[in-house]
Amino acid sequence: MIVLKNEEELRLLRESNRIVAQVLANLGEAIKPGVTTGELDSMAEMLIRERGAIPAFKGYRGFPASLCTSVNEEVIHGIPGSRRLKEGDIISLDIGVWLNGYYGDAAITVPVGKADADAARLLTVTEKALYEGISEARVGKRIYDISHAIQSCVESNGFSVVRDFVGHGIGRDLHEEPQIPNFGEPHRGPRLEKGMVLAIEPMVNQGTWEVKILPDGWTAVTADGKLSAHFEHTIVVTEDEPLILSVK
Ligand code: MG
Repeated sequence: MIVLKNEEELRLLRESNRIVAQVLANLGEAIKPGVTTGELDSMAEMLIRERGAIPAFKGYRGFPASLCTSVNEEVIHGIPGSRRLKEGDIISLDIGVWLNGYYGDAAITVPVGKADADAARLLTVTEKALYEGISEARVGKRIYDISHAIQSCVESNGFSVVRDFVGHGIGRDLHEEPQIPNFGEPHRGPRLEKGMVLAIEPMVNQGTWEVKILPDGWTAVTADGKLSAHFEHTIVVTEDEPLILSVK
């Protein structure tokens, strides 16, 4: 069942997602060569807690950190630790927070120092695919209109979309229905209705779409070792333009 949110719930979801956006912006500014992913995680937890919220990923199904840090060929769910970022790396930062009963969730991928041209183009296309997906999130459209817009943007630029992980509804639970694949035929799936809150999150690979999971049980990496990027926003379907909740 897809839960539609009322005005009060949307206000609370906006608060949770505003914190996500603020923390991501602060983390993005801290990205530079020499920083460890563990330091970023500590910073994320402090920034979340000082805003009165709780890190939603920490302890979620046993995930050990507040922040997912996925570097280069890591797709999502990278575990922060002693890895030191190097000039030219790219890193995906994904956080969830919980405040007043409602979740926020968003992700960005940023270069460490200066990315080379190929990596920079991957980031640009992945973010563009996210916005093309968001622009389909309108009353009367269907979930797979979002999916198809993302896939078309990605593949027309020569990249591939990850199949094994999908976007999701969000609200009182971190992962609610519906699932939102980043690929598929348009005009299918549930109809979009006013008050649906969706976390849309394309994961885009330079090479094959196939991924594998590292022995840590969490980190998804590209099967061919090429780069991967990930952008995510939480949005609400309105009677007009979709509204992005995960902005400052
Ligand atoms: Mg998500």
